[in-house]
Amino acid sequence: MRNESITAADLFKFDYFKCLRSDYAKNECSFCIDICPEEAMVFDRTRLTLDPERCTGCSACMGGCPTEALMSDLFDPNRFVLEFSASKDHDISCKENVPCLAALSPEHLVSIVLRKSGGITCDLSHCEGCAINKENKARERIDDAIDEAGKFLQLCNEANGIEKREQVSGNDVALDRRGMFKKLFRAAQEIQEEASMAELVPPEHEKQPVKRIILKNSLKRVAERFEANTGADTSFSFVVGKKIDADTCTNCQECAMFCPTEALSILKDNTGIVFQVGKCIACGICNDLCQPRSISDDTHLDLVNFAFDRMELLVKHRLEVCEECKIAFPYRGGEKICDRCRDYKDHFSDLFTMAKDLE
Ligand code: SF4
Ligand code: SF4
Ligand code: SF4
Repeated sequence: MRNESITAADLFKFDYFKCLRSDYAKNECSFCIDICPEEAMVFDRTRLTLDPERCTGCSACMGGCPTEALMSDLFDPNRFVLEFSASKDHDISCKENVPCLAALSPEHLVSIVLRKSGGITCDLSHCEGCAINKENKARERIDDAIDEAGKFLQLCNEANGIEKREQVSGNDVALDRRGMFKKLFRAAQEIQEEASMAELVPPEHEKQPVKRIILKNSLKRVAERFEANTGADTSFSFVVGKKIDADTCTNCQECAMFCPTEALSILKDNTGIVFQVGKCIACGICNDLCQPRSISDDTHLDLVNFAFDRMELLVKHRLEVCEECKIAFPYRGGEKICDRCRDYKDHFSDLFTMAKDLE
């Protein structure tokens, strides 16, 4: 098994096929490696490996993984979102209910705020001096997630927000990490107000991460609040809009074939590409793959399209059969010759003339 080096540590489940770096060799995702305080995660050529001697099970790496390729048996952030949202608690703290706040992504935080009334507080009073927060990397990741979640909540016209608590509260009881996991386990068992866990089990063959499904379900609950937020900053690290230049797109369809979440798909009659922004995780693979650089980011985010998985037609071609190679190509007027045959003729026309002269 290709993923045995991760699961051997008995701490994480690693789905090799979900990892962006196994999907596309040139992808440079390194969220999990960058945040690990113990340098326990390393890429060995194309394989992500974990050193079980170094890993402390802090779970900080999970929050950043865009595809949920890394999941832990000890803490499931998606389950936490559903349980915490159904509870009366408002404080998220590494001394109370999570192993480290870095285990939560902006998507998790937005979902919690949209599902609760009254907003939430993130307890950051223990970051300084914490073994997980080496070189302040975990704290920076947490701050970025909170800030980005706050920006997204503003776009949703959500009145409640996320507060940061920097001062140690008198109620805080220091627990070692083992004690923390025991407490988390008990708390999950004790939840009286049973949250529906159906959202944790996506339909078979679903390619988008569960945290995205939960976020979209959270947004649907407040959809009546969405209004044109003209001028708002709609660029986010976890989603991006797309556009395709119809004049240069060759209809090779590679962007759709390699999209890890099926945010891009091919029209049934093969004449174009459609896009569902609600499934996009901003991995950039489509932009990297497109040889004529026809696909690019469109930072305008339409919340209705996002929440309801609406399809946008990015490009639609009129196909004609090339007179030279007899293969269908996007026709833009003039001679019915595809770009490849035209290029070939332009570059090698001298050779054809010379060969003719020799006859
Ligand atoms: S964060 Fe996820 S997708 Fe990125 S390298 Fe790590 S396991 Fe792969
Ligand atoms: S956008 Fe680029 S990768 Fe996608 S079909 Fe067009 S040319 Fe191919
Ligand atoms: S549309 Fe592009 S950026 Fe978005 S998930 Fe697919 S490949 Fe990644």
